[in-house]
Amino acid sequence: MQTDGRIIVAGGGPIGLMVGLLLGRAGIDVTVFDMGDIVHQDPRAATIHPATLDLLDDYGVYERIEPLGIVCPVVNYYDKQELLASFDHGILAGETRHPWVLQCEQDKLSRVLFAMTRDIPNVEVRTETTVLDCSQSADGVEVEVQTAGGKPERIKGRYLIGTDGARSTVRKRSDIAFEGFTYSERFMIVGTSYDFSKAGYAYRNYISDPEEWCNLFKISWKGPPGVYRLVAPVTPEELTEDRVQETCQRKLQHFHPRSEPYDIVLHDSYVVNQRVATTFRKGRIILAGDAAHLNSPIGAMGMNSGLHDAVNLASNMLHVLNGEEDEGAFDRYVRQRRHVATEHVQAATIANKKNMEQRDPATRQKYREEMKRAAEDPVLAKQFLMRTSLIDSLRDAAKIT
Ligand SMILES: Cc1cc2nc3c(=O)[nH]c(=O)nc-3n(C[C@H](O)[C@H](O)[C@H](O)COP(=O)(O)OP(=O)(O)OC[C@H]3O[C@@H](n4cnc5c(N)ncnc54)[C@H](O)[C@@H]3O)c2cc1C
Repeated sequence: MQTDGRIIVAGGGPIGLMVGLLLGRAGIDVTVFDMGDIVHQDPRAATIHPATLDLLDDYGVYERIEPLGIVCPVVNYYDKQELLASFDHGILAGETRHPWVLQCEQDKLSRVLFAMTRDIPNVEVRTETTVLDCSQSADGVEVEVQTAGGKPERIKGRYLIGTDGARSTVRKRSDIAFEGFTYSERFMIVGTSYDFSKAGYAYRNYISDPEEWCNLFKISWKGPPGVYRLVAPVTPEELTEDRVQETCQRKLQHFHPRSEPYDIVLHDSYVVNQRVATTFRKGRIILAGDAAHLNSPIGAMGMNSGLHDAVNLASNMLHVLNGEEDEGAFDRYVRQRRHVATEHVQAATIANKKNMEQRDPATRQKYREEMKRAAEDPVLAKQFLMRTSLIDSLRDAAKIT
């Protein structure tokens, strides 16, 4: 196979764009393919943790997204209406340059990254172009792509990075298994203009409830003043066209009963998986982000850990391309990031959901006591936030050689 020296990135979500930006800035020829238009992506992720903000800051991205988001130092944990624990990320000062969370939806981040890649002549982002297939030989990769109504085209490159999300074509065509499970219920998001801060809620709230757990976050949405977004479990029957509006009201009223109906400004629902690819690398094909690992949004770790993949992979890719290391650098990427996916992200997000929905009174009581103790003791509070903000995961991964 005659190869072009370029790196091909399949999928221009936040993770693919981040890899493209970092490689492109280092002078590498990169082509990113995305089946959509990038400027209208789904605003799923909103929470960006301190560890990720530090990384984004290293590459000049933070200063561009901060004005688009909401700075949130505090996160609260409730048991129904009872406030169990309140944590202020300020306690992480000295561990991070950004001791707060930025609530900034992922479509905004993608638009910023997309705009930044446009300033780099060696980065080509081809929108509305679907990757249909991929293959590799000893010295290169080849992808088959197609634009709407166009003929399939074959593009050669040196390596292929699969950042094409949950249903990754790259992962499937590379025969990499995606082990784990799918939750039986869906997760619904419901946005309302009602200002929950008037009811004493912070911008970020996790609410455990044996009847129906939920999370409540403020997002900037179309700009100040922003809206609150509730995440709650939902059955497919509750989502039929004739029932969905009533379901939105019911979710909000269950969480915070009011005499008046809520003003619903947005709603959507998602199938939620807990899965990790059996490997993140097959020869010249490497996976990152949701293509490599999926988790529930409780804890806000999917995009964050995907961005950590992107930075790690780009750095190792540059070592290989610059001749400083052999392809073993990619295996270190896999060891480090797969460890984080299984031992940090999967472990935390599975436990978070169990805690939110726990019905066993004794286990619930244990959780309540642990959360209260953690919030009252500065040492435990810091340990808690080091884990939830993914700082621990990066430090742990760095120990893996
Ligand atoms: C309700 C909800 C809330 C969430 N909140 C958070 C949060 O607060 N914080 C957090 O860290 N994570 C959160 N997540 C997870 C987060 O959305 C994902 O982890 C993140 O989108 C992963 O980014 P990605 O670039 O890997 O994949 P994606 O964002 O899915 O991007 C993949 C891209 O690939 C493109 N693509 C797919 N197939 C092809 C193909 N064959 N050819 C070309 N292009 C292709 C798509 O068009 C898309 O642009 C949340 C998820 C949900 C569902």
